[in-house]
Parts: sequence; structure tokens; C-alpha cells
Amino acid sequence: MSKAIQAVRGMNDLLPDAVERWQRIEALARDVLHAYGYREIRLPVLEKSELFARSIGSLTDIVEKEMYSFEDRSGENLTLRPEGTAGCVRAGIENGFLHNQIQRLWYAGPMFRHERPQKGRYRQFHQIGVEAFGIETPDLDAELIVMCARLWRALGLDGISLQLNSLGTPASRAAYRSELVRYLEARRSVLDEDSLRRLDKNPLRILDSKNPAMQDVVTAAPSLSEHLDDASRAHFERLLDLLRRAGIEYTINPRLVRGLDYYTRTVFEWTTERLGAQSAVCAGGRYDGLVEQLGGKATPAAGFAIGMERLAELLAQQGDQNHEVHPQAYLVLLGADAEGEGLTLAERLRDAGVRVECNGGGGSLKTQLKRADRSRARHALLLGEDEVRTASVTVKDLRDGTQRSIAQSELVDLLLKKLDEE
Ligand code: ATP
Ligand code: MG
Repeated sequence: MSKAIQAVRGMNDLLPDAVERWQRIEALARDVLHAYGYREIRLPVLEKSELFARSIGSLTDIVEKEMYSFEDRSGENLTLRPEGTAGCVRAGIENGFLHNQIQRLWYAGPMFRHERPQKGRYRQFHQIGVEAFGIETPDLDAELIVMCARLWRALGLDGISLQLNSLGTPASRAAYRSELVRYLEARRSVLDEDSLRRLDKNPLRILDSKNPAMQDVVTAAPSLSEHLDDASRAHFERLLDLLRRAGIEYTINPRLVRGLDYYTRTVFEWTTERLGAQSAVCAGGRYDGLVEQLGGKATPAAGFAIGMERLAELLAQQGDQNHEVHPQAYLVLLGADAEGEGLTLAERLRDAGVRVECNGGGGSLKTQLKRADRSRARHALLLGEDEVRTASVTVKDLRDGTQRSIAQSELVDLLLKKLDEE
């Protein structure tokens, strides 16, 4: 036997049990998003590499070391998307649906980052992303957050809390940046290697350091919130006011800076203490400058992305239920005649909306009943030579073991009634 090939490191197979949990999440998310007027958009997984350098920022971890980039056969430099916002903005500019319009959009799909794989951190992972364009006022920021909260409620999710911050405008952030660099320069000797590297390039990211040895210097650092421009401060205050009115609890986290350069003003994260180091389940914020930065007309915007793997893991830990999809009836077929008739009988049931699994590949009554059990269907429908001759079918309840024989013509009604009662 030759050696079996394994999946690429950090890229997971989602087996049916997991898929069914995901489908439940996706269905609920779709309903919630539609309830707020968001519409789905589907975008390519590959984009020109330049798009990400220009949007996420060339000095961020993602662009510096995490992108799956390659030259294709015609020599174009392409990248598997590490996130969805850049592609969405690109599509908006290209299709002309951003300028002077309000757009509320969402998408779902795989993202790719060459990170160190660990629980909750993968190289192919999946997001549900939401982007809204054309609204500068904080009512939009509040809507996005309220919408997340509604989804968590719909999913029955608990143990998740909201952290907020405001990054101000690029100008106020630049002023803060110089002050932060001055502060950190004076403390070079206590900075770790990562922070020293970031000091020139992306000093704000130092605030995000997870290194315990760095916590003192980070905590004592000058705070971004003291450097906000007046308009950003008013914007943030109004958002907090709206959230209080909506009954949303939050914690202001002045260290929340986010790993992408394009954010302005509001940034937020929904985090949990139940997933170890990979605590962010959903993250987002405002990015008023990005559309123009990517060559469009200036358009305010805000959005967020939910990490599907982390959300699904949280729900699994909670012991969520009712996401499995299994057949409602299993058709046991004994003999060539029964197999022939079973095909049309099963179709009739499916016409009536019943999920039916047909036995395949023959087998004894015992074997077929074992398969029926494994299918998790509640009802086994037995079709043998006698039943074919008398146009009947034996209906066996696999939970309590009772069974009765009825005319085939009565089957649909009987099954629908039973399923209705369950
Ligand atoms: P983290 O701080 O955990 O690295 P991030 O700030 O890089 O997250 P974003 O780019 O904001 O994450 O992506 C939004 C969400 O996508 C995250 O909150 C997380 O739930 C999820 N996510 C990001 N990277 C990964 C990954 N490598 N594997 C699984 N989920 C991820
Ligand atoms: Mg990251």
C-alpha cells in the first residue's frame, strides 16, 4: 500500500457533524442579517496581492508574513484572501455600487493566513463578514453591534463580552503615535524582541502584546483615548450612549488597537474566556478611509467578521443541540421486487417532504435494521415479498419497537401524522 496523503497543515476537513452545526449557525446568521437589510455578496477567493498591501497595510503581521501569495502561470502576483473587507471594497469600487449609496452587505467563506496552527487558529479558517458603506454617523456602529448581540441570542450563546475603543482619525492617531514612540524609546531595555521590531514600523501594535513581561510597560503607556480629536470623541460618546439605550453591555479597552491598518474611530471585539488564547470570536470597526485609499471616492464604512471555527467551538462546548440533520425514515428493502418498488415509494415520500434513506446494496433484515438504527431515522419502513404482493408496508418505530402493517396508499398520511406528533 502506498503512503496516504494528508491535508495541508492548518487546513481542516469539516465532517458532517461539524457541518450541520455550521449550517445552523449560517442559517440563523442569514436570518438575523436579513432582518437588518443586509444582502449577501460572493467574492473571489483570489485577489491581486497589491490589494492587501494597500488596504491591510504593508507593515502588519498579515501582509509581512502570513499571506499565501504566488505567481500564477501568467506571472501575476496573487494572494489567497486573508480577510474579506479589502475584496468587498474592491468589488464596490469596480462595480460602482458604493458612491453616493448606502450599501449593507455580508459574505461568508474561507480566509487564508500562514499562522502557527493551534486550537482556534488555522491556516484556512472561515468568516461571516459584514460591511456597511455610506454612513458616517455612529448609529451604524451601534447597529452592527446590536446585530451581533441578536445573533448571539439567537444562537443561545453565552460567555461572550464586548470590548470597545476608538482609534480616532489618521491625524490624531499620528500625533499619538509619536508620543507613544517617545515613551517606548525611553524604555527600550524592557521591550521584547517583537516590540523592538514593531517600534519603528507599527508601534501601536505593541499595545496588543500578549507577552506577560510586557504588561507593565504597556499598562503605563500613554493612552490613545487622551489623544482623540473632538469629532472622534463625540462620535464615540454617541455610540456609547446608543449602546446603553439598547441595553448592550460593554467594556472600554484602551489597548484594543486591532491588527489591520485601515481602522479609524470605532474598533470592537467580542471575546470569551472559554477558548484559551484565541479569545476573539468576532472583531470589527470603522474604516472611513479605506475606500478612497483603494482608489474610490471617499466613502465612510464599518464592518465586522465572525470567526466560524471559534464560534462553533464555543457552541459545541456549551453542548448545543438540534443541529443534526438525519433521515426521518429508513426504507428496508428485501428482494429484487421490493428494491424496484422501493425506489418509487421513496420518491412519493420525498414529494411529501419526508427525508427518506433507502437501503442500498441489499443485506438481510437484521443488517438492514442495523443500518436503519445507525441512520438515526425514527421509522423503518419494511418492504418485502409479502408487502409487495399485498401493496402494503410495515412501519416500525425504532424508538419503542412497535410495528404495524398498513396499505401503501396510507403511508404518506400516516408518516406525516407521526412526524407531526414528534
Ligand atoms: P487574532 O487576534 O485572534 O489573531 P485577528 O485580529 O487577526 O484575530 P481578524 O482579522 O479581525 O482577527 O478576524 C476576525 C475574526 O476571525 C477573529 O476575531 C477570529 O475569530 C477569526 N480569526 C482570525 N484569524 C483566525 C485564524 N487564523 N484561525 C481561526 N480564526 C481566525
Ligand atoms: Mg491575527
